[in-house]
Amino acid sequence: MFTINAYGATSATEPLVPMTIERRDVGPRDVLIEIKYTGICHSDIHHTRSDWGPVSYPVAPGHEIAGVVTATGSEVTEHAVGDRVGVGCMVDSCRECDECRKGNEQYCLKTHTFTYGGVDRDGRPTQGGYATHIVVDQDFVLKIPEGIGLDEAAPLLCAGITTYSPLTHWGAGPGKKVAIVGLGGLGHMAVKLAHAMGAEVTVLSQSLKKQDDGLRLGADHYYAISDPVTFEKLAGTFDLIVNTVSANLDLDAYVSLLTVDGTFVNVGAPAEPLSINAWTLFMGRRSVAGSVIGSIRETQEMLDFCAEHRLGAEIEVIPVEKINEAYERVLASDVRYRFVIDISTLA
Ligand code: NAP
Ligand code: ZN
Repeated sequence: MFTINAYGATSATEPLVPMTIERRDVGPRDVLIEIKYTGICHSDIHHTRSDWGPVSYPVAPGHEIAGVVTATGSEVTEHAVGDRVGVGCMVDSCRECDECRKGNEQYCLKTHTFTYGGVDRDGRPTQGGYATHIVVDQDFVLKIPEGIGLDEAAPLLCAGITTYSPLTHWGAGPGKKVAIVGLGGLGHMAVKLAHAMGAEVTVLSQSLKKQDDGLRLGADHYYAISDPVTFEKLAGTFDLIVNTVSANLDLDAYVSLLTVDGTFVNVGAPAEPLSINAWTLFMGRRSVAGSVIGSIRETQEMLDFCAEHRLGAEIEVIPVEKINEAYERVLASDVRYRFVIDISTLA
């Protein structure tokens, strides 16, 4: 084991503070990564504030990690010292269940290991990427293609894959009308990706404040949900809606915007349950679905797709001292469109 500098939470109510954490020694199949940049995902805020249930503190969050390999175990074949690499929300899975065998590690039937807040193979809690280094099994390390900066690549490891996976699974592409609800970290990547896939993209945002940005990012249309005319005008329009909102919403109002056989995919993770009227669903054979991140194979495919289409996240790079301020701005929907921590400010 070795000790490194990190930044994290000691309780649900106190600001994040500098701390030290321990990493396991580099095993035969492990890669040691010097972290350069880590994105701030809204899930980091939900988790550190115990929105989803009890948390074991202290916890250093962060699952949008981009860095450089500085050491490899004796059996590592996929990565070499000096490689530009990324780590997302998972660092291991059982590898034996039906879903792992199919390459759906994110739906592991036993337990996949979250990058932070999980249980490491040595039984200790995993700690995330608000830290100088991380040790990860080579199978859960992604290659960041040349042409994408490490800073703009970091958010792809969660915000990118969480939107890419449902967009491809439900066939976003030419001839498809896709709505993205919420223009935050996930939402802005969803707009870029759906546009690059060839879909007709609509943003549904709380207001028109970010309309110019939304259109620049690739949206064809932009509506404020605060305007009641929006829901009347768009009723029965969309083949696919991807909801990225971190708070609860009126599901009936959004599902009514689907065409017959349309699908509303929820990726937002509010603390409260979502509910829907049965009539809204069956009067249009509509589906409500969920999706969590994406597999390792899909994540690499997404990174390669982003390199091919020259897509990165829109970021605001901050030093570690600004993390708590950034959290407040994310909660106020005042993020354009992902905060990324410059980890060199932690060393
Ligand atoms: P974010 O940057 O804060 O974006 C969320 C956006 O939702 C905001 O920018 C805002 O967009 C909209 N919004 C916020 N509060 C709202 C409210 N009360 N009513 C209506 N709209 C509201 O967050 P994020 O990092 O993209 O994450 C979004 C959610 O996805 C979080 O709950 C997170 O935990 C979850 N998540 C899930 C997965 C998964 O695998 N399923 C992965 C990562 C994150 P506008 O200002 O445009 O309205
Ligand atoms: Zn995330």
